[in-house]
Amino acid sequence: MKEYKNYQLKGNNTFGIPALCDRFIEYAGIEDLKELYNNKTFEGKWMSVGCGANLLFCDDYHGVIIHSTAQQIEILEENDHTLLVRAEAGLVLDDFIAQAVDKGWGGMENLSAIPCSVGAAPVQNVGAYGVEAKDVVESVLVFDTRDGSSRTFTNAECTFGYRNSFFKSNPQYVVVSVDFRLTKKSDWKLRLDYGNLRSALPDQFSENGEALREVRETVCRIRHEKLPDPAVIGSAGSFFKNPVVDRAVVDRLLCDYPKMPFYEMGEGCKIPAGWMIEQSGWKGKKMGNAGVYEKQALVLVNHGNATGKEVWKLAQSIVRSVKEKFGVEISPEVIKIPE
Ligand SMILES: Cc1cc2nc3c(=O)[nH]c(=O)nc-3n(C[C@H](O)[C@H](O)[C@H](O)COP(=O)(O)OP(=O)(O)OC[C@H]3O[C@@H](n4cnc5c(N)ncnc54)[C@H](O)[C@@H]3O)c2cc1C
Repeated sequence: MKEYKNYQLKGNNTFGIPALCDRFIEYAGIEDLKELYNNKTFEGKWMSVGCGANLLFCDDYHGVIIHSTAQQIEILEENDHTLLVRAEAGLVLDDFIAQAVDKGWGGMENLSAIPCSVGAAPVQNVGAYGVEAKDVVESVLVFDTRDGSSRTFTNAECTFGYRNSFFKSNPQYVVVSVDFRLTKKSDWKLRLDYGNLRSALPDQFSENGEALREVRETVCRIRHEKLPDPAVIGSAGSFFKNPVVDRAVVDRLLCDYPKMPFYEMGEGCKIPAGWMIEQSGWKGKKMGNAGVYEKQALVLVNHGNATGKEVWKLAQSIVRSVKEKFGVEISPEVIKIPE
């Protein structure tokens, strides 16, 4: 275990925002978590941070940040059709997917290139191109910081929702490892009918050939074209959630905006927040050092030396504009710290 005092978090959040935390602790697994529990670390203010790809630090964090460095991968079960693979929380999800694709283990290729740790994947129920963590997570091993015990949550117990799970509102559980159910070639179930994925695949694409590798490469290419690379320009991906509104609201808006995109859901309709932000004139706009990405209005970016407060101020201005123009309240997907 390693501990740093007065630690600079600029390199631990994809926005690249400077902020200090009182203590930053890198731990390797359950034994380290038990030691932290015995030292009463969890009795004060603390939080788990993975890649920091969904966080906006608006101030210094006066508490302890714990960060897993455990990165082992282990095959727990294997038959002719599927595998059960355990990955530890500190592994970068995309490194795991790269290995899975290399070995011909299907199921996660659509999630390629999402900046995320394995530990945060079930917490956030990350998703892209029609696949979510919930589709491949079999179970999650967690450490309960209230009593120092460990427990396994089944997929059903994780109560996954849209970018949501049981863990999101129960941060006392630290994800230690995740068991993923992946498929061998005979059982691959490729999901290609989301967005422009199928049309972007290479001409010679065949579901029986190098399909996993080609899907992964295509997803990486599309993402690279439309999303900022955090190594070059700071962001947390989509800053806002897509609002879900009553059908009556959609009908009212369609009178003024007949081309407005929307998707029928079980309860209500989802309107793309990015479209509303763009229609409100924000795409590519700057406010101080923060801005709206020129290729995707849902993404707020750090143009260099932005502070978390600057990004938050921009976000609030956008929320107000959208509310004034459409009468719809959009809310952040990004976690503001402190809340
Ligand atoms: C360029 C870009 C593109 C993105 N694209 C997508 C996308 O396509 N789809 C998508 O779903 N998201 C996307 N995101 C958002 C982000 O990748 C996800 O929210 C991701 O899950 C964050 O993972 P993380 O490891 O960075 O978690 P962090 O941001 O570090 O933490 C997120 C939450 O998880 C908790 N947490 C972290 N580790 C643990 C742990 N071990 N145990 C318990 N709780 C933990 C934290 O306390 C926090 O509440 C994108 C972000 C960026 C920057």
